[in-house]
Amino acid sequence: MTVGFSLLRATESGARAGVLHTRRGDIPTPVFMPVATRASFRHISLDDARSTGAKIILSNTYHLLDAPGPAVFESFGDIHRFMGWSGAVLTDSGGYQIFSLPGERSITQRGAHFRLPSGRRHLLTPESSIEVQQAIGSDIMMALDVCVDSTSDETHTREAMATTHAWAMRSLEAHARKARGQALFGIVQGGVHAALREESAAAISALPFDGFAIGGLAVGETRVERETMTALCTALLPEEKPRYLMGVGTPLDLLAAVQRGVDLFDCILPTKMAQQGWAYTFHGVLEAMRPAMQHAQGPLEPGCTCLACQSQPLGYIHHLLRVGNTQGVRWLAIHNIHHTQALMARLRSAILSQQFEADYRELSESLPRRLKAPLLG
Ligand SMILES: [Zn+2]
Repeated sequence: MTVGFSLLRATESGARAGVLHTRRGDIPTPVFMPVATRASFRHISLDDARSTGAKIILSNTYHLLDAPGPAVFESFGDIHRFMGWSGAVLTDSGGYQIFSLPGERSITQRGAHFRLPSGRRHLLTPESSIEVQQAIGSDIMMALDVCVDSTSDETHTREAMATTHAWAMRSLEAHARKARGQALFGIVQGGVHAALREESAAAISALPFDGFAIGGLAVGETRVERETMTALCTALLPEEKPRYLMGVGTPLDLLAAVQRGVDLFDCILPTKMAQQGWAYTFHGVLEAMRPAMQHAQGPLEPGCTCLACQSQPLGYIHHLLRVGNTQGVRWLAIHNIHHTQALMARLRSAILSQQFEADYRELSESLPRRLKAPLLG
């Protein structure tokens, strides 16, 4: 077993506290993975990321395939040596990026044809996605899947799901041919069609993956649809394996998904919010650019132990943002990523001490809800 999972406690609603065992150490769950798309973080340094307490990060196969390319990872040994990160790394398969590409792309039974960021045409198959992720040397790899828009009709969604299932088996076979001690997760698809979600969760969870992801959400569906589909999937996924909800979401989305039994998350929103000059707090969003913040001598959020709150007054961060100094966004990104992880730690502790339902109710009222619609995609 390359990745193991110990379930410590589950609440009646399904919220879980556990430990994800990886070859790079044990990771308490639920856990949030900051996104290092191109083996680098936006706005923050590797040391900044470490300071947020991150133990596992996500990187994107689609981007790494283009630059630096698999050969560079092969020569360095793996992504850990390449970027100087000793924690765990999860790589996605490229499926979501291909789905969200502007311009031409086509999916056949064989694989996905598309253009890389550099403009080169490329065919990514389930087998080649595994090969690239093996070269990258991530600790957790994802099987290539076909993601569809939430407005897709049932026929189109079923077709994409069937291809995803066929590719899941091909990914497992490719992984087995050249096992390198990495874990492989399968992805449940099915759009917002309940019957398809159930069919997909049953089919994918019957396969010998090390963990399971819920894909194809945060692509334009409503909050109710997202929560309903998440609950349908977690009810059918095996208890003893980790569950990962891909690309979701706002603090309230994370709270709702933890309540429904999800263990792992990734999202670019903490950084996107920072770019807007906004800070997550446990009492809503703080708009650091507002003129009233100019004289604020306290931290972004009293009690926060992040590097920003420990070292910079809010009034100074406000000033950096106003004069266009990139350090302003950096401090907010550090705070927002730390906050998201603090939320996960708080929920874990509430689950373990049997306080989850009370904490869930409190956080449902107090977490940020005023997020601009375009940021939620
Ligand atoms: Zn902070």
